[in-house]
Amino acid sequence: MPIYEYTCRKCRKEFEQLVRTGDTPACPHCESEDLERMLSLCSVSSESTRQNNLKGARARAKAAKIESEREYHKHLHEHHD
Ligand SMILES: [Zn+2]
Repeated sequence: MPIYEYTCRKCRKEFEQLVRTGDTPACPHCESEDLERMLSLCSVSSESTRQNNLKGARARAKAAKIESEREYHKHLHEHHD
């Protein structure tokens, strides 16, 4: 039985669930069946999901870059003071 990772669309909680074929998993927090299955290493799904993940990764990389540049400038100012 595969273990899937889900995000509940209703309460936004993430959880892992063992799922048998034909089973509909439900959120353990609010029992909603409106779930989004997360990507795992063994189940790569559609192209659009991959695109979205790539976009997310780029956004994270950009945020990290801005953060490090900010740190760098802070450093410069500290040295000038
Ligand atoms: Zn939920």
